[in-house]
Amino acid sequence: MNNSFELNKILRPHILNLAPYSSARDEYTGHVGIFLDANENPYGSVTSERYNRYPDPYQANIKKKLAPLKGIGTEHIFLGNGSDEPIDLLVRATCTPGKDHVIIMPPTYGMYEVSASIHDVIIDKVSLTADYQIDVEGVLSAITENTKIIWICTPNNPSGNVMQESAIETILENFGGLVVVDEAYVDFTDKPSWIHRLDSYPNLVVLQTFSKSWGLAGLRAGMCFASKDLVKILNKIKAPYNISQPAQEALLSGLDGVEKMKQMVQEILKEREVLRTMLENLSLVNKVFPSDANFLLVRFDDARSVMDYLLRETIIVRDRSRVHLCEGCLRISVGTDEENEALVDALKKYQQSAVTV
Ligand SMILES: *Cc1c(COP(=O)(O)O)cnc(C)c1O
Repeated sequence: MNNSFELNKILRPHILNLAPYSSARDEYTGHVGIFLDANENPYGSVTSERYNRYPDPYQANIKKKLAPLKGIGTEHIFLGNGSDEPIDLLVRATCTPGKDHVIIMPPTYGMYEVSASIHDVIIDKVSLTADYQIDVEGVLSAITENTKIIWICTPNNPSGNVMQESAIETILENFGGLVVVDEAYVDFTDKPSWIHRLDSYPNLVVLQTFSKSWGLAGLRAGMCFASKDLVKILNKIKAPYNISQPAQEALLSGLDGVEKMKQMVQEILKEREVLRTMLENLSLVNKVFPSDANFLLVRFDDARSVMDYLLRETIIVRDRSRVHLCEGCLRISVGTDEENEALVDALKKYQQSAVTV
């Protein structure tokens, strides 16, 4: 390995020395007792559910259940308020505003750029290739001594494809900062997760989410898998109670639903291919890109007017038509069979009206 990764060297110096907020219950983790330490309401809540106690800051029960599912130790798991929280925390932990850099590879998920911009961190963009793969040479030559994070999304949003393993390996081996592999859509592909490579690469960080395959977007819960030391740092700088009690309860019971999650994924994958075929049969569709995710990137003759028409039909898809390498494309999430049929019916109607005008 050509990188000389040392976590302490890529963390911002003051983060290393930071004394975190010590929450009221840090000294006692039992469940029975008289709790007069946190200024909570002893009588209960205004709601019928009781939420008068602060939640576990480190979500120990959830991690205990999640660890065997992911084949990883609990001390490698950080849970966040959506995976957007670890995205932000990773920038905060490593990047000094106005000085440090991150590398992103457009077209990709928007939050990497937004988080960097919020913190006044310099963004170096290395375009994906025309077939949405990583330009390894381009990435390696964009690295500066102030580059702290390289963001890789696989399967990539919005292109839907998986990034070549060898490209990610080369970057991991030749970069001394963090390589974050965002696997928000990993449950929709049969390619292996990078979680199992954490032992080999101390600079690897893997993100996953409960928002897609698990169907829990409303809970706001995301997973970050990393070295024990980095997880400690993230715990140190997060908001003390970053996952609410009702969200923790719902997650805990949600984790019993792996089988249901897998069934839903199978259903979505089946529907994705049905939708693909229906779309490919429409003359206004130019191209439906291959997908390892729960959405299709679709190129239309006139994406913007298709988008406007669908909006009038109260069908909302994602306009990516002005995004680099996605010109003319809409990103369409796979819906239920009824929803997908309604979409295709609307597109047929649009097609006919366009012909008659
Ligand atoms: C949807 C998505 C997420 C999920 O974000 P949450 O904050 O966990 O809802 C993360 N990364 C990518 C690439 C996504 O598309």
